[in-house]
Amino acid sequence: MNPFDSELQERLASLSAQGLRRQLRPVNSSQGPRIVLNSETLLNFSSNDYLGLASHPALQEAAIAAVREYGAGAGASRLICGSLKPYHELEETLAQFKATEAALSFSSGYSAALGTICALMGSGDIIILDKLVHASVVDAARLSGARLRVFKHNNLEHLEALLRWAREGRPHTAEPGPNRRPRALVVTESVFSMDGDCAPLRGIVELKSKYDAWLMLDEAHATGLYGARRRGLAEEQGIQAGIEIQMGTLGKAIGAAGGYICGSRALIDYLVNRARSFVFSTAPVPAAAAAATAGLRLLQTDEGEQRRRDLWRRVAQFQAGRAQGSGRPVSAIIPIPVGPEEQAVAAAEALRRRGVFIPAVRYPTVARGQARLRLTLSAAHEQSDVGQVLAALEAVQLHPVTQA
Ligand SMILES: *Cc1c(COP(=O)(O)O)cnc(C)c1O
Repeated sequence: MNPFDSELQERLASLSAQGLRRQLRPVNSSQGPRIVLNSETLLNFSSNDYLGLASHPALQEAAIAAVREYGAGAGASRLICGSLKPYHELEETLAQFKATEAALSFSSGYSAALGTICALMGSGDIIILDKLVHASVVDAARLSGARLRVFKHNNLEHLEALLRWAREGRPHTAEPGPNRRPRALVVTESVFSMDGDCAPLRGIVELKSKYDAWLMLDEAHATGLYGARRRGLAEEQGIQAGIEIQMGTLGKAIGAAGGYICGSRALIDYLVNRARSFVFSTAPVPAAAAAATAGLRLLQTDEGEQRRRDLWRRVAQFQAGRAQGSGRPVSAIIPIPVGPEEQAVAAAEALRRRGVFIPAVRYPTVARGQARLRLTLSAAHEQSDVGQVLAALEAVQLHPVTQA
């Protein structure tokens, strides 16, 4: 083996020794409550396709029609000649859905975070993150060159202390440039991806207003699931107007792929000019945008509401079936804490032998020594599927935590 590959082999061996090595598992079926892994059919409790839209005929047909009309690839970035009609339709649908002035779509939620945070913030600015925000936000904040501070998860007192520090500390930081003053940006998630709990949004909005900071809210796990019009947790809590930057993905409850930012016309016009992951990247396949538009439209119909109700019914059923009794379900994400990485992998394997797929989530997705199984429910699950997963968890003596 050449020296390059043998060095990488050593690094991989070190990951294996820590129980942190990951492998791709080819799935030979579409996304749904059952997936085919190798040649085994397993009950799937691992997907973020919360409403079962990923293989919905309306989304499939929209994607096929877009391929027929606009081809397979976009050919260039949006600012060159790639700004095809399906992206504009998607952005109009998004802005109308979220009731914002405008929207911009990206090729993924990850690139939406990267492009947006780096466009808005730079050296001389301060970014304040919840301890548990998604890797895309952490990476973006680091890349931006701004100073970073992290507040204890969902802790308003700590957030306030950091905002106060930022207000006082700002004069000591480098100037961001001749034409603007230093800014502070708070970034958090509405429903946290690995713990399934919710942020105290009202308190966060009050604090960011009091200390004159901006707020970016990542609704990746809430869009389509909360609020009277299913816009997200910000709608449910009535604080949408207090958020400068609303972010999300088109790849979870919406059932397609891509990321989005919703906000003011000025924000979107600025991002079109300054978000490097948007400017310097070929537009996504038109089929992805068309499928996302179909997903957003479907969400807003009676069928969308029915699917949301089905999802919450499954969550409630799961909750009621647990040995320790139940609290009020707050999300469709149910962490099952294990701790040591190897034990989490072994637990996932034991469940797989019982026909249930719930993957182990390990560092760096969660902290070291806090490995867990992450169970997600979908509107597409049947009552009997939930019964089956409860029985399997009982049989291998795993105890889910549900947030209340
Ligand atoms: C999945 C996820 C993202 C990234 O979105 P993609 O479209 O998958 O790139 C961002 N934030 C959170 C909280 C997520 O869970």
